[in-house]
Amino acid sequence: MKNLYDFLAEDVRLQDGLNACMNCGICTAVCPAAQFYDYDPRIICNQVQTRDNETILSLLKSETIWYCGQCMSCKTRCPRGNTPAYIIQALRKLSQKLGYFTESEKGRQQFAIKQTIGKNILEVGYCVHPERVSPAFHPEQGPVWKWVTENADKLYDSLGANYNKPGAGTLRKIDQESMDELQQIFDETGATEMYDTIHKYSVEKAKEMNMDIQDDCDNEYFYHVYSKNSENNQ
Ligand code: SF4
Ligand code: SF4
Repeated sequence: MKNLYDFLAEDVRLQDGLNACMNCGICTAVCPAAQFYDYDPRIICNQVQTRDNETILSLLKSETIWYCGQCMSCKTRCPRGNTPAYIIQALRKLSQKLGYFTESEKGRQQFAIKQTIGKNILEVGYCVHPERVSPAFHPEQGPVWKWVTENADKLYDSLGANYNKPGAGTLRKIDQESMDELQQIFDETGATEMYDTIHKYSVEKAKEMNMDIQDDCDNEYFYHVYSKNSENNQ
């Protein structure tokens, strides 16, 4: 039977990202995430290269693999040519695929990302679109944001955008052919399957937590994973 390292080793990002770590700690020294979280890419690299099943399993269930901001600073500095960020990508992918992401608070946020950015791309063709940044979910936008959303048509037109209209220009409506192409890209690359997998394991977790979950952003589980930020994640 394959152990978890064998699964990781099939990922091109691990093949490219981990040559041999000598534990020098340069990646950690330059890592901005290490400044803010209890997070250490050096330790993660070393843990993965042990190939120990239990160690890798605990990583897949951990908060730590979700702390990396993918800035790639570590890639530029490693004297061994490793890329800790790629190792993290491979760990995240395996955690999603096997459902272990639901074991951590940060991992569970995968559901919120799928329901927001993921759906935005497939439904309107933008990662972030003003219509999808509701004042209720985004208090950081400040009090003026409510006014902006209520007056969007007039405001964006006055700024020279082509808001939600066909043709060229900023914030234009994405044509159906392009939307179909986007869906096809998601299908071909496995992203659709990944979204389905994230959804399936999130439903199981919501059930375990006695929470309501739907395929939208207006349900108990979504609110929970979207807003929960315990003091452990510092
Ligand atoms: S910089 Fe490279 S060799 Fe040094 S600890 Fe990080 S991954 Fe390992
Ligand atoms: S990519 Fe991740 S691990 Fe590498 S330096 Fe940036 S935050 Fe740190």
